[in-house]
Amino acid sequence: RLKPRSDAVIRPDFKFEDMGVGGLDKEFTQIFRRAFASRIFPPQVIAKLGISHVKGLLLYGPPGTGKTLIARKIGNMLNAKEPKIVNGPEILSKYVGSSEENIRNLFKDAEQEYKAKGEESSLHIIIFDELDSVFKQRGSRGDGTGVGDNVVNQLLAKMDGVDQLNNILVIGMTNRRDLIDNALLRPGRFEVQVEIKLPDEAGRLQILEIQTKKMRDNGMIGKDVNLKELAALTKNFSGAEIEGLVKSASSFAINKTVNIGQGKTNLNAKDIESLHVSRQDFLNALSEVVPAFGVSEEDLK
Ligand code: ATP
Repeated sequence: RLKPRSDAVIRPDFKFEDMGVGGLDKEFTQIFRRAFASRIFPPQVIAKLGISHVKGLLLYGPPGTGKTLIARKIGNMLNAKEPKIVNGPEILSKYVGSSEENIRNLFKDAEQEYKAKGEESSLHIIIFDELDSVFKQRGSRGDGTGVGDNVVNQLLAKMDGVDQLNNILVIGMTNRRDLIDNALLRPGRFEVQVEIKLPDEAGRLQILEIQTKKMRDNGMIGKDVNLKELAALTKNFSGAEIEGLVKSASSFAINKTVNIGQGKTNLNAKDIESLHVSRQDFLNALSEVVPAFGVSEEDLK
């Protein structure tokens, strides 16, 4: 009898509400539908559709929007081998042929396991951060070494070879999709491309809730703090910048208690208990943390 493979694919103890990623529900649903849903069906059924699993997923968009976060969470959610996370430039080696070998090595475990176990093999995830720094358009480097070109060719060869392997997913991340070699963006390679944009107001509210969860749970946030108001005031902030805002507000709150400016650095128990982050601390933080994208995305279109 054919059985669903949900337990084999998704960790049974995984809860979607614990993802800790804000404002990306739509993107996550799309990623799941394109890259994972088919893996829950028995392989024989998917074969009848005449399709193969997606083996490359590209997450692109401005810095600090949660691309790495979502890639790691996907890794945690799946009953997969611990994802291999590689920062693009790490792959490059000054020794002839070593960079290509580094790429081949990334795929080795998955290939060996697939040979031994076939469809029973667990999913192997390779996460490539800063994809654009290594897999630039071939011929565009201008350093005359051709090292970058060989690396692109090697990744292409590996991803094409993955055809017969159903147990690999490569997740690439970049701020500059326009710089990546076109051949890597074709069907069969990084074929599912999901843009991770700056969060809208509802997304910012979710991210603020995530980033202030600890201080709220521990009763360390002022009653005057209204996260909805802060969501409205943080237009063009990325998730990472919202995290920075919460840190900055905390530092204002801490400094109010310690008050380095007035030479008060000895804390008594009452001082320690009184620590809480108020609306004013957040407003102070807003004058300190400036979003990198000062103009709205609409303005840029
Ligand atoms: P880069 O392109 O610079 O590598 P990125 O898009 O991969 O950036 P992350 O590294 O995922 O960004 O984000 C940095 C940190 O910002 C995260 O570890 C998290 O704390 C916070 N953050 C960013 N986006 C979100 C989000 N959508 N929800 C919750 N936290 C977020």
